[in-house]
Amino acid sequence: MSPTLEALPSHDLTPAREAAAQQGEFRPDSDPTEVIRWALAAHPDLVMPSAFNLNGVVLLDLAARAGYVGDVLFVDTGYHFPETLATRDALAARYPQMNFVTLNAGASPDDGQTPDTLYASDPDACCAVRKVAPLQNHLRAVNPSALLNARSREQTSDRADIPYVEDGGSRRKINPLAYWTRERLEAYAEAHDLPVNPLYHDGFLSVGCWPCTRAVKPGEDSRAGRWAGKGKTECGLWAGDNRL
Ligand code: SF4
Repeated sequence: MSPTLEALPSHDLTPAREAAAQQGEFRPDSDPTEVIRWALAAHPDLVMPSAFNLNGVVLLDLAARAGYVGDVLFVDTGYHFPETLATRDALAARYPQMNFVTLNAGASPDDGQTPDTLYASDPDACCAVRKVAPLQNHLRAVNPSALLNARSREQTSDRADIPYVEDGGSRRKINPLAYWTRERLEAYAEAHDLPVNPLYHDGFLSVGCWPCTRAVKPGEDSRAGRWAGKGKTECGLWAGDNRL
């Protein structure tokens, strides 16, 4: 299946379409823009958190083609690679119809939000303060009914069962790329000349904060470089008691 390349402005929602989506009528080979169009109709207040990894960059482009003009939320933990911040800026310039919002803007390692090396001694606590809390606080204030999310099943075993439409946590998550493989994401990004984080090409298949990210080794899954050796696989946004 090839992604639909034309902009798709129609956001019609009928009870039948809502029911179909709820019942999982989208197939594994459904066009992600069809899922996004449904989401825009079902959840006009939809917002998109993003860390601008490969999945996120592809989702942004697909969302633009589906007519998304909402908020794109990025959390500045204070520990991002400069390449990640540059990728954010390139995307904001490429998609001016969307509203790119940086939460916790201006954060730095010595801003006092956490002890200097909490990421090493207690990464769960560091993520809770520097990543999860800023986003949760923003979402509590804005209270969107759903989040547009770029996770895919192939990324880790923890994500192997995510559906297109995911309930639970504080609000519904829409996962249009649930069934896309890394090869397909890479092919799409190349075909559309998307501004992928340059660290990706150095083996950083999933880029988080610099103290907690390393390049992935051959044969490892795409998120194996996140919190490697710390027994941690998720920041807490998408799993755990305080998930979004
Ligand atoms: S990824 Fe590391 S540095 Fe970033 S918030 Fe989590 S523990 Fe802290």
